[in-house]
Amino acid sequence: MENYSVDRYRQLCAQVAQAASAAGRGPGAVRLMGVTKTVPAEKVNAYIDAGLDLIGENRVQEFLDKYPTYHKQGLEIHFIGQLQRNKVKYIVDKVHMIESVDSLELAREISKRCAAIGKKMDVLIEVNIGGEASKGGILPGKLTEFLTEISGFSGLRVAGLMAIPPISEDIAVQKHYFDEMYKLFVDIKDKKIDNVFMETLSMGMSGDFQAAIACGSTQVRLGRTLFGARD
Ligand SMILES: *Cc1c(COP(=O)(O)O)cnc(C)c1O
Repeated sequence: MENYSVDRYRQLCAQVAQAASAAGRGPGAVRLMGVTKTVPAEKVNAYIDAGLDLIGENRVQEFLDKYPTYHKQGLEIHFIGQLQRNKVKYIVDKVHMIESVDSLELAREISKRCAAIGKKMDVLIEVNIGGEASKGGILPGKLTEFLTEISGFSGLRVAGLMAIPPISEDIAVQKHYFDEMYKLFVDIKDKKIDNVFMETLSMGMSGDFQAAIACGSTQVRLGRTLFGARD
């Protein structure tokens, strides 16, 4: 396990850097996140010891169980899964970013809970770029209105956008959605909405991260290709 984690982590760092360079982007343009769902904390720690400094958590209870065990020195933790409003209070003091903000009610609750502990939470707005009924996220056509509505929330700061596009093995299809996301990212940046900063564009997973990087992703979320298949 120890060697696999070190080797695999380094291989993927190299692949991410290579994809960035091929797109004419500098080293450090893209961050690698390890997505830890179903991965035991001890195994995640082996990767952290190998240099992994950003992890993504999907499930509140699983995260709370593993949190005490994590090697937290220098570790950044983002919440990336669907988040119920009544669970927000359990995580706001433990995570550095919430990437899955997809409703006004959730944004309001995060802002309220963070304001209460004197924190301003960095959040990403999840965009339903494929317009899929089965998925959460704000529809592209509603994004500006949504951002304007939450721009006055004092307990959060919008740091960018996140997307989980429709799964496809076709690189042209992958790039179509990633290009659409990048356009939104740039358009919103140009609008200069108060408290809205387009710094992070979180897109790309195990099956499509190279395409995402080619299209402007600043953070890829890697699960299976980093840690191995999930049970
Ligand atoms: C599981 C998950 C990932 C990682 O998916 P892989 O295909 O295992 O790389 C990325 N983002 C989110 C939101 C996830 O739930």
